[in-house]
Amino acid sequence: MIYKDLEEKYGSGVYYKRDIEIISGKGVYLYDSQGNEYIDCVAGHGVCLFGHSHPKIVQAIKEQADTLISCPEIFYNDKRAELLEKIAEITPKGLTKTFLSNSGAEAVEAALKFSRKITGKTDIISFTFGFHGRTMGALSATWKAEYKKPFLPLVPGFCHTAYNNLEKLQEVITDNTAAIIVEPVQGEGGVKPASMEFMKGIREICDQKGILMIVDEVQTGFGRTGELFAINRYNVSPDILCLGKGIAGGIPMGATVVREDLSNLDKGEHGSTFGGNPLACNASLAAIRALKEEKLVERSRENGDYFISQLRKNIDETVYKDIRGLGLMIGIEMKQKVGPYLAQLMDKKVLALTAGKLVVRYLPPLIIEKEHIDRVVEATGEIIGRS
Ligand SMILES: *Cc1c(COP(=O)(O)O)cnc(C)c1O
Repeated sequence: MIYKDLEEKYGSGVYYKRDIEIISGKGVYLYDSQGNEYIDCVAGHGVCLFGHSHPKIVQAIKEQADTLISCPEIFYNDKRAELLEKIAEITPKGLTKTFLSNSGAEAVEAALKFSRKITGKTDIISFTFGFHGRTMGALSATWKAEYKKPFLPLVPGFCHTAYNNLEKLQEVITDNTAAIIVEPVQGEGGVKPASMEFMKGIREICDQKGILMIVDEVQTGFGRTGELFAINRYNVSPDILCLGKGIAGGIPMGATVVREDLSNLDKGEHGSTFGGNPLACNASLAAIRALKEEKLVERSRENGDYFISQLRKNIDETVYKDIRGLGLMIGIEMKQKVGPYLAQLMDKKVLALTAGKLVVRYLPPLIIEKEHIDRVVEATGEIIGRS
């Protein structure tokens, strides 16, 4: 395996790698250097909402590449202007002021900085098993010790408390709490949805105490959970919304959307060289159009329900602890470590993820069809036990 050898020799070495070389993709399929075809339920960690090489996204990228690729935010730009307006239109009420960046971690990083600026306070509360990225600020909000330990000390002022537990949350709030950052469904943390009571409770606490509610929808946004944004399900509007992953159909982009009446940044206080580049903006515009034209949010909800019900029907209920999810963000919590299952699924030409040690996670493209889901469920059943 020539590419494997090169990557092993010259890559950073920080990734757990699977033993295949992926060289192309089309729709829900990926292809390796040996010509094998896989059903892709990794979708670039949930990025490829539209599958691979979706014609509308490809065309938007090609057209923009021919027109203008780079244009920093010191200049105005047609595609960026259009996208900023679009984001204000589709995100929850009151959120209109967007900072564009290039990844989820950057979107979170900006949200943390903006929270300190807006409130004049320093401390941030996040939750056990939460994941918000790996830059120093975002990493400080992330839960897992193994991601953080070699890099201490992190940013001061962060503390973690139990997810879905309002009482415990109340206990850690202080006069210096600037913001609470929460995922509506914990992704890396095991595909765990927040309860209705929890999200509404956070909103109330924030309103009472002048604390900002940051909702991290980097993984759950843009239809993944069967709603355009997972927060829509809770009928709650955050003060700051973090977006990333599928926002630009696979082109790197992050976005931090702030409530208009709170936004108070001064010139020069934050920035990014690539942020708001026309290539990513046009890809994002095409992505948002395609979501609507192809009814992908509805399909995510329907096919997600189908996926979960087929898993429950076809898998031996004595082998797992729980099958859960929202839309096409789905997890099977097992009673033992799931690492080995991923390699076995790969042998059956299905690519999936883990979420923590005990959960097999599926984040397929939203364009996935029932026939693909049937094949994924069958392969899963063969490995972990059919009913
Ligand atoms: C993936 C993810 C991030 C980090 O995004 P990167 O693009 O990897 O920096 C942040 N928050 C959540 C909820 C994520 O799933």
